[in-house]
Parts: sequence; structure tokens; C-alpha cells
Amino acid sequence: MLCRSLLVLLAGLLLVQAHGVDLSLQKRQVAAKSYPPCGTSPPFDPAWSTFLSGALDTGADITACGNSKTWSLTYDDGPSEYTPGLLDQLDTVGVKTTFFVIGCNVANNPSILRRAYQAGHQIGIHTWTHPSLPKLTSEQIVAEIMWTAKIIRDITGQTPTYMRPPYGDIDARVRGLLHKMGLKVVIWNRDTDDWELQTFNPNAQNSSQVVTPTSVRASISSWIASPPAEGIISLEHDLFQLPAQIAGETLQRVSMAGFNINTVASCVGTAPYNNTAIEVIFNPAIASSLSKAPSTTASASANSTATLTASKSPSSSPSPSAGSIRASLDWSIIGTIALVLLCSQLDVSNAF
Ligand SMILES: [Zn+2]
Repeated sequence: MLCRSLLVLLAGLLLVQAHGVDLSLQKRQVAAKSYPPCGTSPPFDPAWSTFLSGALDTGADITACGNSKTWSLTYDDGPSEYTPGLLDQLDTVGVKTTFFVIGCNVANNPSILRRAYQAGHQIGIHTWTHPSLPKLTSEQIVAEIMWTAKIIRDITGQTPTYMRPPYGDIDARVRGLLHKMGLKVVIWNRDTDDWELQTFNPNAQNSSQVVTPTSVRASISSWIASPPAEGIISLEHDLFQLPAQIAGETLQRVSMAGFNINTVASCVGTAPYNNTAIEVIFNPAIASSLSKAPSTTASASANSTATLTASKSPSSSPSPSAGSIRASLDWSIIGTIALVLLCSQLDVSNAF
């Protein structure tokens, strides 16, 4: 009886440790890599110069989705602490949408990005620091994209092929650069202006607040009643509480109205990811230089903030190393085997 109890106890410990190794390794996969700070343009890697040469092609941006009964819900600027609530609702409704994420916010919320990806939602690039791209140099534009692509790749194993420029700001130079990087540019044809709700004050006495929850809901109502023939790509945000809350309401209403809700990649009919650029993204020299300076280290515990500031910490992770965890797991296995052998010996004397 004693042997059986000890075996059950050891087996339980084994399971817990095995699970711990899995989670720790997942966290470590991101935490061990350093990323640029959020306040300034991320560094440019000379290896990316290949994107700067040659003619810039032009092409149409993606603004619509299919036909009048299709609707692509897109959420920008996350992931944030409000994203999981939206993901819960998406799970309940059972549809897939698109998140255009900010690299700095991904660094602060890697587990939320991982959840969104694993749930089957499309992950797209929305830059590292959310600048207006036409105001940047070409090197800065490429760096904004590449660092965001890198952290998404580090967490999901996938490199996005779709991006949305912050504020929808784009010109021929920016578009040409993005196309050269293999990216499809997604704008929208319906804008809720919900981002303005971040400063909404329900107790304000004056009527200067143009965008209110009521006005956003009215916009959605009109779009549902009269959808454009080319379908809808709507713009919403999951960085702040009120916009994220209304995004959840909108999801329910669009679904109830019978629209076919799709990711942008599904609308366009091409793959959401393409990993052929990985070798360019993973340049060891630039990663090494970052490890010598203060940098943003992805942490599941840090919070996303309105100003897109990120926690700064040394690149080394204080968590136990994978090697030490694996060693303790090995000893648990050895202990379990030894106990089984011992118990089988004692079994002869009916001690089991
Ligand atoms: Zn944005």
C-alpha cells in the first residue's frame, strides 16, 4: 500500500514537472531573446539593405472582403490585457479574425499573441512603435517591419505576409518597400473610429465628444443594414478597454446578422504566412549587439500600456534554465523506476 501511494505521488510530480518544462521552455523561447526598446525606431540591420535597392513596384492595397455578405473584422494595436476577453468571445462565436499587432505590445504580452495564433486567428504586422511610415527613412520602415516580424516568428513560428500601416498612412515609397518585403498591405473600408473612445468620459457635460459608444454602435448598425457590394473590412482596436468591449459587441451583432466572418487572408485567398524571409530576419549580428544594451525583453507578466512603453530588463532570464529543469525531471524518472523495482521486490512479500 505504501509503495502504491509513493508511486502515485511520484507519477503526479512527474506530470507536474513535465508540464512545467513545457511551459518554461515556451516562455524561455521568447524571454531569452532581446528586442529593441519601444520609444525609438528599432535598429536597422545592414543585412536588410537588399530591400532598399531596385525599383519600387506599386499595387493596390486590400480594402474589402469578398461580397456583400462577408465581413472581415480586424483588430489593431494589441495584444493588450483586453485582448483575452475578445478572444473568449471569438471562441464562443466560433469565427476567425485578424489581429494587426504592435511589436512592443507583443513583447509585453507574448502569451496572448500565442493564444490568438493557436486559436486560428490571423496575425499581421502593424510595426514595432506605431509610427506614420511616410515620415520615416526607408531604413527605419524596414526595421519597424522586420523586428515585428521577428517577434511574431519567435512566438508563433510563422512570418506574416499581411501588414497594416499605422493610421492607414502610406505612399508610393512605403508601399513599394512593403511589397519588396513580400507583404500585402491591408487598409479598411469601414472605420468605427473606436480608438477615440480611449478618452471617452461618460460624465462629460458638454457634447464635444464626437465619437461615443452610441455613435460607434450606430455606425455598425448602418453597415449591417446596408453592406457594400464588395464586402467589409472594418477597423477596430483591442488596446483599450472600451473599444475592446465594443469590438466584442460588434462581433456578436455581425454574427447574429448572418455575415460570413473571415480573416483577411481568407478574403484574399492567399496564405497568411510565408517563412522564406526567416534567414534575413534572424541575423545573429544584430541580435548580439542588442544583448549588450538595455532592451525590451518579452515577458508574459508585463502589461501593455497606452503609451506603448515596454519594461526594460537585462537580456538574461532569471528563470531556471531548461537544463536544470530537465535534470530534475531526469532524476524523477530515475526515482520512479527505482521505486517500481523496489516495489516489485517487496510484492513477493505481499507488501504492495
Ligand atoms: Zn494602429
